[in-house]
Amino acid sequence: MFAMMHDCFERNIRYLRLSLTGACPMRCTYCRPAFYRNTDRSLMTASEIESLVRYLVVEHGVSKVRLTGGDPTTRPDLVEIIERLATIPGLRDLAMTTNGLTLERMADRYADAGLMRVNVSLDSLDRDQFACITGVDGLERVLAGIDAAVNARLTPLKINTVVLRGDNETQLPSLVNFAADRGVAIRFIELMPMGPLAEQWADRYVSAEQMRQILQPVTAIWQPLPQGSDSAKRYKVVLRDGRKTEVGFITPMSCNFCSACSRIRIAADGMLYPCLMDQPRGSILPGLRPRFDPARLDRLLSEGLAKKAAEHPQRGFIVMTHIGG
Ligand code: SAM
Ligand code: SF4
Repeated sequence: MFAMMHDCFERNIRYLRLSLTGACPMRCTYCRPAFYRNTDRSLMTASEIESLVRYLVVEHGVSKVRLTGGDPTTRPDLVEIIERLATIPGLRDLAMTTNGLTLERMADRYADAGLMRVNVSLDSLDRDQFACITGVDGLERVLAGIDAAVNARLTPLKINTVVLRGDNETQLPSLVNFAADRGVAIRFIELMPMGPLAEQWADRYVSAEQMRQILQPVTAIWQPLPQGSDSAKRYKVVLRDGRKTEVGFITPMSCNFCSACSRIRIAADGMLYPCLMDQPRGSILPGLRPRFDPARLDRLLSEGLAKKAAEHPQRGFIVMTHIGG
């Protein structure tokens, strides 16, 4: 029987978001500052990652793990990492968030290795705008990747769109149409003020309420869905032409979901982030190196968790590409 980890506000920890690397070929304007240099030193190895996750799942009842980054697909040993994690008994949900660039080529391999589902970032269906936001002329590859992931049954697949004022906000109706055509869910994310990029936040932020207004011309019925463990407010939406899709809003700024937070984040270098927008609370690497030391790992985890804030600060401490969103 496991002993559930909890913080000092009695929130149980069930969900690990694990960044595998700070590396990413994209440079999304809201995520990765132009001067950001990836300092992937001392990354956890595939075997250390397996020991860590196995311990959290078997001893502490974590049941959901999301691989993120940077882009997790830039890790040369990603398939091995998935294979190792997929063998862990009790891990009910093994998912990955990616920019989608490798999915056309690799979706089958990820699925065969044991990955259950993917979320794919897609901020625009306009090729030039996509390139402007991400720094990569990769729209077609990402669209082909979404199709490949659906064919490989990495589902339910969700599209993630960060909405930016004066930029991709006019794309929302096309993106909802796209999701309905492909039979996938879409979630619109409120921009978060992270690290030095927080300076541009006030000019670019669009609230979920405003996003819903932008969608009004193409949508007819909004039926709320149970929230469950999802951080998104989800709706079954009937479009004006009768098609249906699922639309979610992730509202960290207009209506935070901190009181129900069940997450911890660990970055590729072993730093523990009990809250996405707060400071790191120490490294768990000494519990994994030079050899796996469960007592030490437990101490480091509970010391870090004791500092998990009741609510996230108004401004993020570090850039998103380092922690993985
Ligand atoms: N590279 C992968 C991707 O883009 O999906 C995984 C890492 S990315 C940091 C994870 C998620 O964080 C993406 O959905 C991205 O859109 C979101 N994100 C990045 N910066 C953000 C910000 N400032 N505010 C809100 N969401 C952000
Ligand atoms: Fe890379 Fe994802 Fe950040 Fe874009 S959002 S720069 S794809 S890590």
